[in-house]
Formats: sequence, C-alpha cells, structure tokens
Amino acid sequence: MNALTDKFGRKHSYLRISLTERCNLRCTYCMPEQGVPVSPRAKLMTPDEVFQIAKHFVDLGVTKIRLTGGEPLVRKDFGMILEKLTALDVELSITSNAVIVDRYIDQLKAAGIKTINISLDSLHPAKFKTITRRDNFEQVKRNIDLLVQEGFNVKLNCVLIKGFNHNEIIDFIAYGRENPITVRFIEFMPFDGNKWNKEKLVSHKQILDQVHSRWSETCVERIADSANDTSKNYRIKHFKGTFAIISTVTNPFCDSCNRIRLTANGRIKNCLFSSSEVDLLTTFRNGGEISPLIAQAIQAKASMRGGMVSDESFSDPKNYSQNRSMIAIGG
Ligand code: SAM
Ligand code: SF4
Ligand code: SF4
Repeated sequence: MNALTDKFGRKHSYLRISLTERCNLRCTYCMPEQGVPVSPRAKLMTPDEVFQIAKHFVDLGVTKIRLTGGEPLVRKDFGMILEKLTALDVELSITSNAVIVDRYIDQLKAAGIKTINISLDSLHPAKFKTITRRDNFEQVKRNIDLLVQEGFNVKLNCVLIKGFNHNEIIDFIAYGRENPITVRFIEFMPFDGNKWNKEKLVSHKQILDQVHSRWSETCVERIADSANDTSKNYRIKHFKGTFAIISTVTNPFCDSCNRIRLTANGRIKNCLFSSSEVDLLTTFRNGGEISPLIAQAIQAKASMRGGMVSDESFSDPKNYSQNRSMIAIGG
C-alpha cells in the first residue's frame, strides 16, 4: 500500500507546511495571550530542508502544498523557499494574514500561485484590533483589494465566534456583492489556551438562518463542492463572490480527509486535532530515511478528529489541551 494511504483507505495528497511559529498578529483564538514558546531557529527547517522534505512527500503522491504558519510571510527567507518549491510538480498555495502581502505580489505570481487564503474576522477596525491585538485593519483591507486587483482568487477565512462577530455574517457576504471573493465561515476550534467553549460556536443552521433573514430562499444558491472540499458552498444570485461554511468541530469531513501537516520544526501531524507528532527533521539531518516515518504517521491516523469521535469529547478540555496552539500547528 502507498505510504500516504491510511488504514481507512484515505489517500493524503494535500500537505500543509508551516514555515514559522511566529506572527505579526496575535489572534486570541489562535494563540494564548502570553504567546507560545517558539523553537530556536536552528530547530526550524531551512529553505533547503523544506524543499527536500516536501520533495519526499511529492514523490510519494502529494499534489498540493499550502504554505502557512504562524505568518509565513514574516520569514525573511520566504521568497527563497517559495522559489525552491516551484521546482516541484505540485499546486502551490498560501494562507496569510495579508499584513505584508503587498511586498510579495510579484514573487507569488512568479511561483504560479493563483489562490490565496486570507484571515479576516471583522470588517470593523476596532473589532479587528480586539481579535488580533494589533492595529493593522486598514493595511489588511487594502492588501485584500490589491490581491483582487492583481487577479488572485481570494478566499477570506473568517472564524465565527458567538457574541463577537456572528452579527457580521451578512456584511461579510455583502462584501462579495461586487468583489469576486469567497468568504469562508470557519467554526471556532478548541486549542491549548484559546478559551474555547461550545456555546461560542455558530452552527451551519444559524448561519443559514441569518442568510435567509436577509435574502429569500430563491436567491441563495447551493453550489457544487469540489472533491475533498471541507466546505459547503453557496452564492447569492448575481453576486460576484460566494460564501462557504466549514464545520470542523460539529460536522468534520474526516471520511474524505486528504490532509497532512508538517510543522515548522519538521514534525508530521496526521490530523489537526492529533497531539502526537512524528519527527522527520532529526532523522533527515542524520541522513536517515524519512519515508518509513511518513508511512508510520499516516498509519497512526485516527478515523476522526484525532480520536475525538463523539461530540461529547469536546466537553473535556483534557482531550484537546495537549494539542499545540494553532499558531504552532499551521492551520
Ligand atoms: N497567519 C496566517 C493566517 O492567519 O491566515 C496563517 C496561519 S493561521 C494559523 C491559519 C488559519 O487558522 C487562519 O485562517 C485562522 O483563522 C485559523 N485558525 C486559527 N485558530 C483557529 C481556531 N481556534 N479555530 C478556527 N480556525 C482557527
Ligand atoms: Fe497569526 Fe494567523 Fe494565528 Fe492570527 S490566525 S495569530 S494571523 S497565525
Ligand atoms: Fe482530517 Fe483531522 Fe480535520 Fe478530520 S479533523 S478532516 S481527520 S485533519
């Protein structure tokens, strides 16, 4: 059996590589207030190590690589990493907070990147500051407009938190009236130190109820999801943009999961919610063979949410508090 096929028959063709545990924002849902301990630079993959390890995955069957973090663009050698990865026969993409993305437009184009995922959780500067603990709203908004003008396919990731931004759902969708963007409403997920609680989730039904209170049922079109898509996709008639709902906690897409994650310090994480990791970088640096380790991590993958099969698992923080904060996983 192929090293990337797990015991449930899922083929893992999508690799998300975190380039750094650092970030120029401090989103409350992603990292604890006191920050997270970061790996010393020597423990992080160098540009060549990112390339060589990614190449192993591509040789085994990975067809898509997303660069993430932390904020991938704060790495000074981001351009070098990107350029190296263009030598691989894969679709490249990136997830960024857009604060400094304007500096990389030409390099992103040269790497053939067509789609960029950008985090934006509020359309109000003051709320943006509350959630990110930084004052970069105008810069981010300008950069999103710039990406659209430059022809990138922009997907906005919006983590919905009840009592904070659930009243902005309509405004976010209306942002797509004239803008060809996709707004993706993402369920707030629990991680170490992010004060998660189930009451803060905004369900798929609650989102659609809000949508229908503004637009009639005939105006809201369900559009086809692509293979392995984690979202349910919709369009308001005549809008240039679309919107999507991603219910990772209440309705995960584990049956068709094709994702694996590589942390900035070279560890493979077989599921967003799994707290076990397999260290590839140490073996790679010692000249060892990493393909068996990749196969081992894939074989150890649980059927669902790192083993949290029932929704009740989320009632006990012990089940997820051992997991890294999202900033150190690479969302
Ligand atoms: N810094 C980049 C950014 O914010 O887009 C890339 C890394 S960030 C960890 C990747 C994605 O994870 C973001 O879209 C962010 O909204 C999402 N994320 C972080 N913490 C989350 C949480 N607790 N629940 C749901 N999504 C989360
Ligand atoms: Fe940084 Fe992205 Fe996490 Fe926000 S979500 S703190 S931008 S890594
Ligand atoms: Fe895949 Fe884990 Fe997410 Fe399920 S929870 S879709 S198994 S990464």
